[in-house]
Amino acid sequence: MTTLMPPFRLHRPASLAEAVATLSATPGGRPLAGGTDLLVNLRRGMGAPPALVDLTSINGLDRIDVGADGLVLGATVDLARLGDDPRVRAGWPALAQAAAAVAGPTHREAATLGGNLCQDTRCVFVNQSEWWRAANSYCLKVRGDTCHVVKKSERCYAVYAGDVAPALLVLGATVETAGRDGTRHLPLADLFREEGRTHLALEPGEVVTAIRVPPPDGASTGYRKVRVRDSIDFPLAGIAMSLRRSGDGLAGLRVALTGIASAPVLVPDLDTMLGRPWAEIAGPLAEAVRKGCNAVKTTVATPKYRRRVSAAAAVALGAELWAGQEESAA
Ligand SMILES: Cc1cc2nc3c(=O)[nH]c(=O)nc-3n(C[C@H](O)[C@H](O)[C@H](O)COP(=O)(O)OP(=O)(O)OC[C@H]3O[C@@H](n4cnc5c(N)ncnc54)[C@H](O)[C@@H]3O)c2cc1C
Repeated sequence: MTTLMPPFRLHRPASLAEAVATLSATPGGRPLAGGTDLLVNLRRGMGAPPALVDLTSINGLDRIDVGADGLVLGATVDLARLGDDPRVRAGWPALAQAAAAVAGPTHREAATLGGNLCQDTRCVFVNQSEWWRAANSYCLKVRGDTCHVVKKSERCYAVYAGDVAPALLVLGATVETAGRDGTRHLPLADLFREEGRTHLALEPGEVVTAIRVPPPDGASTGYRKVRVRDSIDFPLAGIAMSLRRSGDGLAGLRVALTGIASAPVLVPDLDTMLGRPWAEIAGPLAEAVRKGCNAVKTTVATPKYRRRVSAAAAVALGAELWAGQEESAA
């Protein structure tokens, strides 16, 4: 059975003020960027907004500026450009690697940074056709009243599977938004909530306008992703890391995970490893990552696999960054 795209009015404002005003005046209206997440979901019957407000004609919203204060990225920068930019690749490799790991090449030409951060959460019980979901009594996330993953749960466990957010988390990025109450600046972690239906802390009509990333701090950074099809797929697990060493001891470590909870997760309590050599870090790092994974049965792979593969990928990435720091010091 084919589901048709629901009817909506498409606005293409030329200014941010007009976009915010249109969204604020249209309850239920949604921002549209590349459309690679939103349009697919609407086609599958996940929502019927009365209006879509296309942000891609807004002047200056696609900037990549590099300066003494670091990197400023407009929300409509496309991921192909972000992944290819030589300045981003040199200064913030985790970010370039994460952008280049999203979906496939044609997606990345259209997909934007803002859309990537704000993409919807996913679950094997919701990213299905309308007839499949109807036949399975729907679920908490769309039209139903039961979570099929965690029975009797009052919250939705759909998973956040954006690749770029964990990279930005380990890089200490902040988000700029615009809404009817003006401009806000918030740490990236505060954009997300651990609830599959309401995973973004944005007010109605509020849009992400820019991301600010501090200048490189001497750490090596990287992103590793595990997926079913390497050519085009969401992460079953994704790990971003920023690692700095001083001689033979660890001087700084930040690790963030995606694909394992309803929000990207910054792994806590890594400071206990500071000062230790790599041989004493790998085991505790794997344990910390395993503990940081709140995976439940939301994907085709089991939670156990996602926990184990996250830990293994973190250790492999850590070993690579550790060795790279030695080479760059030599
Ligand atoms: C086959 C397939 C594979 C995919 N694989 C991956 C993958 O590997 N990794 C991954 O991360 N994603 C993946 N995606 C999802 C999607 O393509 C990307 O996340 C993409 O970056 C979304 O960006 P977009 O500009 O197309 O967003 P859109 O689809 O335009 O928007 C996505 C959501 O964000 C909102 N939004 C957009 N811009 C803003 C803004 N500035 N402020 C506030 N809200 C905004 C929209 O209202 C919508 O809810 C895949 C999608 C498909 C169809």
